[in-house]
Amino acid sequence: MAVFIFLFGLTIGSFLNVLIFRLPENKSILGFSKCRKCKKRIAWPDNIPILSFLLLRGRCRNCNSKISFQYPLVELLTSLLFLISFFVYGENPLPLIYILFLVSLLIVIAFIDFKHFLILDSLILSGFIVSALLIFNFQLSIFNFPNCEIINCFFKDAFWGASFFAGIYLFLFLISRGKWLGFGDVKLAALLGFTMGLKNSVDIFYLTFLIGFIFAIILLVFKKAGLKTEMPLGTLMAGASILFLLSGFSFLDLINSELILRLWLKN
Ligand SMILES: [Zn+2]
Repeated sequence: MAVFIFLFGLTIGSFLNVLIFRLPENKSILGFSKCRKCKKRIAWPDNIPILSFLLLRGRCRNCNSKISFQYPLVELLTSLLFLISFFVYGENPLPLIYILFLVSLLIVIAFIDFKHFLILDSLILSGFIVSALLIFNFQLSIFNFPNCEIINCFFKDAFWGASFFAGIYLFLFLISRGKWLGFGDVKLAALLGFTMGLKNSVDIFYLTFLIGFIFAIILLVFKKAGLKTEMPLGTLMAGASILFLLSGFSFLDLINSELILRLWLKN
């Protein structure tokens, strides 16, 4: 089963590459793969995830131009994240499918924002539609998710999650007049709040800034960037969300447990 999930992840990763390349260019996501340089159609033996990239040594068979490293990176990342999702959520098929959908969507959003500083409305909208359908169904109690706390949390307070998360970002957007973040980030925050609920949104908010802070320090230490280097916030938010979904690590719980520990020591 794990091997199947891994191979499934590679296939989906290969499709996510298509989305990441073509959506920002407004190209159809259907149609054959072509070399981005010479535009020659890529035959199926050269289109196998990871394997073809290695066999061709990262170069096009026709024009010998370099194939973007993004192809194997996204394929491998997707299959690894799918595998982890399977180990974390594997017992419940429906949550697993939802998590795989969210992880895929967040990978596409992260990569497009990283490359173009752009968060596409179509991606945000598809996230809202799928999540809303699940929430709707959940309230009709067609589905229930035993022993799956994070999932249960998702559907409780979608509204408050979206209001809180988008509210903070909208405030930052307005007082900076769009200099600190783009409006796309506000929409992504609304989607994340909607899908994860209020408590998880607070955690992802902290985690986003923690990851951003760590990256900023790494960049400064290696002197690859000055203080003015812009970081794609959408990429950070998507990364933080994936990390949170798959690790379940919670700052709020950590703070709570420490408070409880202190009270307990006092007594
Ligand atoms: Zn070529």
